Amino acid sequence: MDQQPSSLHVLIFPLPAQGHITSMLKLTELLLPAGLNVTFLISAKDHDRLSRFTTINSRLNCYPGFRFHVIHGLYEGPLDTDEKLKTMYDRLTEVTKPLLSNLLLHDSKVTCLIADGIYGYSLDAAEGTGVPVILFRTFSACAFWACFSLPDLISSGELPFRGTNMDEQIVNIKGMEGFLRQRDLPKFCRFGLNNPTMQTVMNATRRTPSAHGLILNTFEDLEGPILSQIREYCPNIYTLGPLHAHLKARSESNSTFSNSLFEEDKSCIDWLDKKEPRSVLYVSFGSITIITREQLLEFWYGLVNSEMPFLWVLREDIMSSYGDNKVPSELEEASKQRGYIVGWAPQEDVLAHPAVGAFLTHSGWNSTLESIVEGVPMVSWPFFGDQQINSRFVEAVWKLGLDMKDTCERVIVEKTIKEVMEVRKKEFTDSAFGMAKLARESVREGGSSYSNLDRLVEDIKIMGARSKEIILG
Ligand code: UDP
Repeated sequence: MDQQPSSLHVLIFPLPAQGHITSMLKLTELLLPAGLNVTFLISAKDHDRLSRFTTINSRLNCYPGFRFHVIHGLYEGPLDTDEKLKTMYDRLTEVTKPLLSNLLLHDSKVTCLIADGIYGYSLDAAEGTGVPVILFRTFSACAFWACFSLPDLISSGELPFRGTNMDEQIVNIKGMEGFLRQRDLPKFCRFGLNNPTMQTVMNATRRTPSAHGLILNTFEDLEGPILSQIREYCPNIYTLGPLHAHLKARSESNSTFSNSLFEEDKSCIDWLDKKEPRSVLYVSFGSITIITREQLLEFWYGLVNSEMPFLWVLREDIMSSYGDNKVPSELEEASKQRGYIVGWAPQEDVLAHPAVGAFLTHSGWNSTLESIVEGVPMVSWPFFGDQQINSRFVEAVWKLGLDMKDTCERVIVEKTIKEVMEVRKKEFTDSAFGMAKLARESVREGGSSYSNLDRLVEDIKIMGARSKEIILG
């Protein structure tokens, strides 16, 4: 790719949440060596955390064309409920819609805006500026397609749900007939048509075809049939994923490019070093999931009763309420013997560690891809959003593990872990290795994601050549 300094300037704007920031930063680190300049919009709090907990500044400061544009005044609390998501989104719109318009019109020459596809208003902000918008949807193609199809479910009467049987089949999402159930749709579908998150996501998703293109952090061999469905409406899709593996492949480096907003406790790698190959269950529910004390104890008993060694990420803010924090002594004792608990792990390194045999995950999209790349089978316990559909695909389509959706009773946790790590270990490990191979091939020279990144860069160059100079400021 072109290493010359250039006048091409991409403005990148993610939702201020770990999973969105991490994948958009990986994209940034792929675009910079191609000679593009990047301005990355980020909240003050996230900027501060990234600076404290990662090497991002030293990694990016060597590119004179990179800068963070720090945004102040955003909602900075947790995001685990619809109400909090709405507060975050409303505040974000209020602050960033005028900011975006201003940057696109006045600040400096912007060739292209790459905005989180969750914001329909990025398209409004760009209107009349002549700046093309490429939307980046940071979750799976299957979740995108389900959200795109929501109006079809409403018109066919499948939404709102007809009854309380969550195993009722959903038949009006093309390509998902036969295995999708009510419980596998994004969680917000359970709360009626007026749910604000559902409205926001559905409206933003339906606007995607009016963007210049759509970036997805996935790969053709994983989601080809669903991508074909999306291409009927959005023909210009750039599948670039798995982005974390893509970045590693292009940089020919073995080190990880952490974008953690929490401080990583690397001591768990030493603990893993002492474990047998493929013997440890890694447990993490990502950056947003909140659980009750009852759920915490059910998981804990399930883990301990499975008798597998486990490495568990328990964020200090993972519990919905604090009160009786005492842990039953038998759990403490068993955890000392075969468990290791950290507040935040270097997850990519953990999943790449030979001692890890399975991942009990909330099925966040980044976590799912990271597990796929390392050939680690999954036990899924989705919390919200796209996770419900990701976990269904993990079990029913990709055969990479089992989905424990909607329950975490200790006996089920124990049984599911044993099923994946013992009883059906070979079956899941074989399919996970097969998918890992395809994932890695997609980001190698000649692979689909590799070629699509080259195409994206070329397209941005063409936009630059075509665009009239928009002098900002
Ligand atoms: N992660 C991490 N350490 C942890 C837990 C998570 O580095 O202890 C990273 C993980 O590697 C992933 C991101 O945080 O890249 C979580 O994104 P995901 O989309 O899986 O879930 P979210 O946090 O958005 O729910």
